[in-house]
Amino acid sequence: MDSKVRVRFAPSPTGGLHLGGVRTVLFNYLFAKHHGGEFILRIEDTDQTRFVEGAEQYIIDTLNWCGLIPDESPLHGGAYGPYRQSERKAIYTQYASTLIEKGFAYYAFDTPEDLEEKRKQVPNFQYNRAHRMEMKNSISLSESEVSELLKKNTPHVIRIKIPDEEEVVFTDIIRGEVRFDVSTVDDKVLLKADGMPTYHLAVVVDDYLMKISHAFRGEEWLPSAPVHILLWKYLFGLDKMPKWAHLPLILKPEGSGKLSKRDGERLGFPVFAMDWSDPSTKETTVGFKEKGFLPEAFINFLAMLGWNDGSDKEIFTIEELIAAFDLERVHKGGAKFDYEKAKWFNQEWIKKTDNTILAELLQPFFDQAKIEIHERSYLIKVIGMVKDRCHLLTDFISQSSFFFAAPTTIDTAAILPKWEEKKHAFFAALAQSFKEMSGKPVAAELEANFKTLAASHEIKPGDLLLPLRIMLVGGKFGPGVFDIIEAIEIPDTIKRIEHSLQLLSGK
Ligand code: GLU
Repeated sequence: MDSKVRVRFAPSPTGGLHLGGVRTVLFNYLFAKHHGGEFILRIEDTDQTRFVEGAEQYIIDTLNWCGLIPDESPLHGGAYGPYRQSERKAIYTQYASTLIEKGFAYYAFDTPEDLEEKRKQVPNFQYNRAHRMEMKNSISLSESEVSELLKKNTPHVIRIKIPDEEEVVFTDIIRGEVRFDVSTVDDKVLLKADGMPTYHLAVVVDDYLMKISHAFRGEEWLPSAPVHILLWKYLFGLDKMPKWAHLPLILKPEGSGKLSKRDGERLGFPVFAMDWSDPSTKETTVGFKEKGFLPEAFINFLAMLGWNDGSDKEIFTIEELIAAFDLERVHKGGAKFDYEKAKWFNQEWIKKTDNTILAELLQPFFDQAKIEIHERSYLIKVIGMVKDRCHLLTDFISQSSFFFAAPTTIDTAAILPKWEEKKHAFFAALAQSFKEMSGKPVAAELEANFKTLAASHEIKPGDLLLPLRIMLVGGKFGPGVFDIIEAIEIPDTIKRIEHSLQLLSGK
């Protein structure tokens, strides 16, 4: 790469960050770091009507959680700030004026009522070359009328004048050559009546001023590209324009259409990176973080949604992703989201993560479940025993709560069909034998003792293991039974067996 790579993630702070948004961040970040370049976070908040309190902080928190830290941002600062477009308002006006002077844009004085009226008269009305002469603007009105209106400070917007016939052609790194016939594009507003730019003007001016070398964004922005390319041509020259890549969509699990928040609600999985609480409705949407994903796994599976390194390798650390990432290997087609596969990545990362680190990450989940952990070393040991069974951090709660407190319910219904007096006698004797034990016997000793006792009662040990497990754990799950006894120790084991015997005999 000849000049410095500078990429940006340019979200509008309007709500929770969707998987697709985080993948856009990730691909920008990986590309920048692969080329030793800079990754910039720019907040595109010029649409005051869509502004949502807390959304910018949420974006910053999400990037922090993912470890995708910007080199420049409203928080980190940088040489090209401010990085919040609402604080750059004064910058855009001059560019809008330049466009007017060069004849590429015009003033439009239509009131919201005028536009409403026109929409009623003309089905699918578009403010474009077919209709602009019927409207109140500096193309349809005389020069003196226009200067009169401006003198009187009549509210107005500035619109781009889309050329009558022109084909806009550009090269997209993922899609190759893309062609647009601009006759289908309307005369977009560039500067609003309150002096704020729209996204179209602001994105081009800021990409220029911030020396952005590559602009990567979601495929949903492709229809806006012709307007941006025309603005680049009119204002700065196409040779200065960043290289574009429009990233394919993340699709619904069924394979058609963009994955939406509603799909997550329908199918029971998160779509946002972290919990998002809508300040107006107070509705909370669950995020991958709170659902129990490790950030390493989240990043890893997002990277694999639409990209691979050309081999079968699936598990990548962020350093490996940076080294291997190549935008040309991003697929053109959308990538189907598969929640089971996402959980598989998380399980692989849980297995890879050190138990001490997991203990730290799990503490808030245990706190939330009101499970008291008295000793960190005991938690670390338990984590080691159950981690192979956990796909999500939240699974640790259901898989291990019985290590910290006796189960609140015992699935006696699973024991009763094969329950008989001699089994009762066996477990009573087992409890008694435990009472006579001293010290802290290890699993192997416990197992040997159990087998000897089973033989003396003439019962196959295999017929006794399931009831024993259910007595200790509450249900048919968990690691090896004797490992559990070793961990919870003898006094607790006795209590649980005796409690279950009471339940089974209906007392
Ligand atoms: N502000 C746009 C958004 O909300 C950014 C699109 C772009 O990256 O050009 O996603």
